[in-house]
Amino acid sequence: MATKAKRTSGMKKTASRPAAKRSNSKTAKKTANKPAKDLNGSMLEDFFIDALKDIYWAEKALTKALPKMSKSATSSELKKTFNEHLEVTKKQIVRLEEVFKQLGKKAQGKKCDAMQGLVEESESIISETKDDTFTRDAALIIAAQKVEHYEIASYGGLVQLARTMKKNDIAKTLEVTLNEEKKADELLTQVAEKSINVEAAGEENDKEKPTLKESLISIFS
Ligand code: FE
Ligand code: ZN
Ligand code: FE
Ligand code: FE
Repeated sequence: MATKAKRTSGMKKTASRPAAKRSNSKTAKKTANKPAKDLNGSMLEDFFIDALKDIYWAEKALTKALPKMSKSATSSELKKTFNEHLEVTKKQIVRLEEVFKQLGKKAQGKKCDAMQGLVEESESIISETKDDTFTRDAALIIAAQKVEHYEIASYGGLVQLARTMKKNDIAKTLEVTLNEEKKADELLTQVAEKSINVEAAGEENDKEKPTLKESLISIFS
């Protein structure tokens, strides 16, 4: 502030221009001093870091959503699948923190609207389906698979970008997670097909299901 006042006092029309020029040359000097590395500080790298922040936020949101999904699931197998993926997710968060470190950036989340929507969808499924039904499990599996597919798209894109930017170590690290997400998706398909979907298909719609007492009365009257 003081420098600006000093400068403007002595100059007339061009007073504001030298200030801009000066700050520009300062930035140029800074970047010139840095060792020239592939695409560092590029627009693409900025986007890459933003995308990492997005998935970092998404993974963290999942560590909160998965316990709820597990708790609401009917079958012990699906509960187990969710619990195991929670542990995998925690490791993926650490892995992302390593990637931020490799980039010399602070691990930071940026709200992911897509993941927020997917988590909300799983919450509506829980509130709109009955407790202890396989129908809920069948629906929860699909909700979880939507999450996995979002993650597969995200990590798949990040791996591609990392390779393009010649950040091969980062590409390899992210590929480990990508493969875990693919495995999780396949596992969910297996769990659904093995029994849950069949059980759900055989479940009667008990919207107007009589209570046990009512059933007994109808049988014995
Ligand atoms: Fe994940
Ligand atoms: Zn996201
Ligand atoms: Fe996103
Ligand atoms: Fe996942």
